[in-house]
Amino acid sequence: MKIKSKVEVSSIPHVLVVWSTGVGTRPVMRDFMEQIGQSKRHILATDEWLRVKGCEAVYAIGDCATIDQHKIMEDISSIFEAADKDNSGTLTVEEFQEVVDDILTRYPQVKLYLKSKHLHDVTDLLKDPEGNDRQEVDIEWFKLALSHVDSQTKSLPATAQVAAQQDAYLASCFNCLAHCQEDPEGPRRFRGSGRHPFLPFQYKHFGQFAPLGGEQAAADCLETGFPRAIALNGFGFNLV
Ligand SMILES: Cc1cc2nc3c(=O)[nH]c(=O)nc-3n(C[C@H](O)[C@H](O)[C@H](O)COP(=O)(O)OP(=O)(O)OC[C@H]3O[C@@H](n4cnc5c(N)ncnc54)[C@H](O)[C@@H]3O)c2cc1C
Repeated sequence: MKIKSKVEVSSIPHVLVVWSTGVGTRPVMRDFMEQIGQSKRHILATDEWLRVKGCEAVYAIGDCATIDQHKIMEDISSIFEAADKDNSGTLTVEEFQEVVDDILTRYPQVKLYLKSKHLHDVTDLLKDPEGNDRQEVDIEWFKLALSHVDSQTKSLPATAQVAAQQDAYLASCFNCLAHCQEDPEGPRRFRGSGRHPFLPFQYKHFGQFAPLGGEQAAADCLETGFPRAIALNGFGFNLV
């Protein structure tokens, strides 16, 4: 192995080299980020529709970008207001249920939070600490019930699997741009009126492979409904 430094090139005897470097920001991206006020970041921020934050009609996908998932707590008062149809100042379970689908689509961290808490239904969040149903909740209770949801916000990994799905997603959005502007398919806008033209990008993890050397590899296919893991061995595979 050769080590390059400013002053010398030297060699170190070795048996095994473990490479553990990160990926850096390309100069072209750094320049762009500076121009749009994202110079403090290492990676370009987009919204959930893959639009570059601070830019009109510029989209970014793949390793150069990351989705800045909107926090539910930033919109909590607007969500409460939108759901409280009769303006009573309290929310019934029925009122909440009417906006649940839009909440789950707009804030995917809610689904992850429910999973982490082994809850089956979003309305379970409104129960009291003893697990009893509450007929109505006020804004303070609503805020408390959802206050930990954003802790489940996840960044997507920089993988080809993510990049390829974003590519397909954007292509399909562009192809139905005119149609979706007339007849939006996205969730309702809790701040403002109407609906978003498109559904936000949603990543589906199809599993991953790890080479084990030779002709062997282990595959984790948990999300696909296949067995938790399979070990690939030559041309066959074993379930594990
Ligand atoms: C060692 C390694 C192993 C990996 N293994 C896996 C894996 O097993 N599974 C997996 O899913 N992902 C893996 N990845 C990640 C995967 O390669 C990336 O997530 C994926 O390639 C991202 O695609 P992209 O199109 O965003 O970027 P890239 O594939 O990097 O494409 C960017 C392109 O832009 C070009 N470019 C750069 N600057 C300019 C410029 N100024 N002008 C014009 N063109 C420019 C580059 O030449 C390049 O062709 C691995 C990455 C590395 C580094």
